[in-house]
Amino acid sequence: MRHLRSTFKVLKFVGSLSKRNRFYCTQSTVRVRFAPSPTGFLHLGGLRTALYNYLFAKSRGGVFILRIEDTDQKRLVEGATEQLQYDLRWIGIIPDEGPSSGGNYGPYKQSERLHIYRMEAEQLIESKKAYHCFCTEKRLNLIRKEAVRLQQVPKYDNKCRNLSKEEVNTKLKNGEKCCIRFKLTPGDQTCNDLIYGSITHDVASLEGDPVILKSDGYPTYHLANVVDDHYMNISHVLRGVEWLPSTTKHILLYQAFGWEPPLYGHLPLLINADGTKFSKRQGAITVESYRNSGIYPRALINFVTFTGGFSRLKGDPHEPRTYSIYELIEFFHLSYINTQPCRLMFDQLPEFNRAEMSRQISDENSLKQLIIELRELVIETISIQISVVNTEISMYDLQLDDEHLSFVLKWCPSRVTQLKDLVKPNFMFIWIQPSYQQINISNVLQYKEKLMILIAELNEIEEFTQIAIKDKLKTFCKSENLEFSKFMKTLRQCLSGLEEGPGVAEIMELLGKKTTCARLKRVNESPTQPDKNTCCPK
Ligand code: GLU
Repeated sequence: MRHLRSTFKVLKFVGSLSKRNRFYCTQSTVRVRFAPSPTGFLHLGGLRTALYNYLFAKSRGGVFILRIEDTDQKRLVEGATEQLQYDLRWIGIIPDEGPSSGGNYGPYKQSERLHIYRMEAEQLIESKKAYHCFCTEKRLNLIRKEAVRLQQVPKYDNKCRNLSKEEVNTKLKNGEKCCIRFKLTPGDQTCNDLIYGSITHDVASLEGDPVILKSDGYPTYHLANVVDDHYMNISHVLRGVEWLPSTTKHILLYQAFGWEPPLYGHLPLLINADGTKFSKRQGAITVESYRNSGIYPRALINFVTFTGGFSRLKGDPHEPRTYSIYELIEFFHLSYINTQPCRLMFDQLPEFNRAEMSRQISDENSLKQLIIELRELVIETISIQISVVNTEISMYDLQLDDEHLSFVLKWCPSRVTQLKDLVKPNFMFIWIQPSYQQINISNVLQYKEKLMILIAELNEIEEFTQIAIKDKLKTFCKSENLEFSKFMKTLRQCLSGLEEGPGVAEIMELLGKKTTCARLKRVNESPTQPDKNTCCPK
């Protein structure tokens, strides 16, 4: 990695090409690929690459390919390929070609294409663009150590380049272990990157000849990547900027094969909000963890699109909204991608989720689905509470009719960013009344008579809305000579068990007239009852 970084520094950014022209290639069909290594879960960086490739392909009527780069056998994680495909589907990205979808350019797993890499590597040997290398691990380690001692970047000394044909044949006959290395051509090599512009780099001055086929018969990334992109007819390669230093090497390989390279576009570095390096080792950044924590796929793709280097769409920033994948496809253009490192503003993700939840709530069909989900969530949470705490909550008393759930849902985006929040301790009052332990009973007792009058007055309200309730509470406190804030505190406790939280009128409207009055009555009348949680009465 140190090596990569130092190489990156010497890349020369010569300037950008005329804007839009550089996004077009000679190939008529756009074909892009997302080429993850199945070494773990799909994280935000990988998702950004997949998504940008997908949006780009679809915005150009093109094809999106999933290719599994599983040649590093030591790093493979069991089940990762299936998980990757599952995560992509959940996000809404269905590959046109890939291990599950099939296609005319398969197989789409590199481990099933080893014969092609060997054939192409041998082809390069034939044309004297590559050579067998018999250097032992021990020798290579010595070279590395010596370079470190001299404070230089380790670099293979290309020793085996000079072996004669006879020497090579004898070694091969003797069964000596060998790999195949690619002969780097010295001199400046230019790559016209679609995002970073023209970049010039003399890779041979910085690196020794790279291994392209390992002694175990597996290709290295560089060979497999180039061969597959060619065989799969890839027109554009959009990938993370960490691969930019390798691109001139890839172009040299294309030249050696006599193939036309695809157009390259590198996506800017992702960094944390505080400017520190973003790493896939950071916890809770996988698609799976977001899914499990209640983030909607549409919220996640909007977050990734807009914080991953894509300049914001026009629209009112104070009125956050989410765009469907089809809308994003329509807007997408490579010229909107920045080269500046992108700060992942993680605090925006809950806001995207809130916006997405609001959108679903305002759509009749999605609302129906949310009602079902919320009902299940409440039942599940309360069942667990019943089994763990053994309270006297009765499932039959829960107010889970469509009308009530729909009301709660329409209210909730002002207070929560995901459905799951509605069953967190601070919002459990919506479903079950607080236990006596949560209420300061002596405080309630001082209002005993006043509460009886208030219950009667609340019962009188015809339209049980926040405004009407607030008015009633104000006039009530005034006429009964009560200190408003102190009385509200007691009411909030009786109704929710909370010290702080939504306003009392808001809570009352949410619970409805019947439940509000029942809860106040219960606390007022039986302060010495054993502790128990009970649900809202029907
Ligand atoms: N297998 C590489 C990765 O996981 C792909 C790089 C590329 O897209 O060329 O990052």
